[in-house]
Amino acid sequence: LKKVGVLNLQGAVSEHITMLNSLDNVQAIAVKHPEQLAELDGLIIPGGESTTISRLIKQNGLFEPIKQFAQQGKGILGTCAGLVLCGKTTTHNEVEQLALTDICVERNGFGRQINSFETKLDVKLIGQQIPAVFIRAPYITKAGEQVEQLAFIDEHCVMAKQNNILVCSFHPELTQDNRIMHYFVESC
Ligand code: GLN
Repeated sequence: LKKVGVLNLQGAVSEHITMLNSLDNVQAIAVKHPEQLAELDGLIIPGGESTTISRLIKQNGLFEPIKQFAQQGKGILGTCAGLVLCGKTTTHNEVEQLALTDICVERNGFGRQINSFETKLDVKLIGQQIPAVFIRAPYITKAGEQVEQLAFIDEHCVMAKQNNILVCSFHPELTQDNRIMHYFVESC
């Protein structure tokens, strides 16, 4: 049995829990307190509002504990706002980021042209034609050498992996396709 936490501060929490529980041998746990991290194999940082989530991460004393969790090699999946939080820099530096991956992020990168859209993506290591929902989504503008870029829209990187950290610009939990979740849980 794998125990996977979903950071339960703000955003798309219940959708991740539902999708995790639809997989075999996974127990999903809503996480609000640092003590809860000890029993987990992996943690999802969901989409929502990255400024709000980052404030609540600090308020709940989770900033250093999440960094340590990542350093221990435990799996982390950051989706949308979660990708912003896992990044190292953003264009306007308005979010205090966890810097778990060597990526620069453009917040709301797609948001200015189109607020929300759905498409299908070929994702390296995971699969072809994976449905992906983008909601005021960020993209990766720069990735360090340790980062493996897994999917693109036009020239923009929208999914990447650096060792135990997986990030995507979109919301895999809002579709019926659980391949990304399955890949993440297996990697935990
Ligand atoms: N635009 C949001 C942010 O940067 C992310 C949107 C989302 O998670 N769907 O915080």
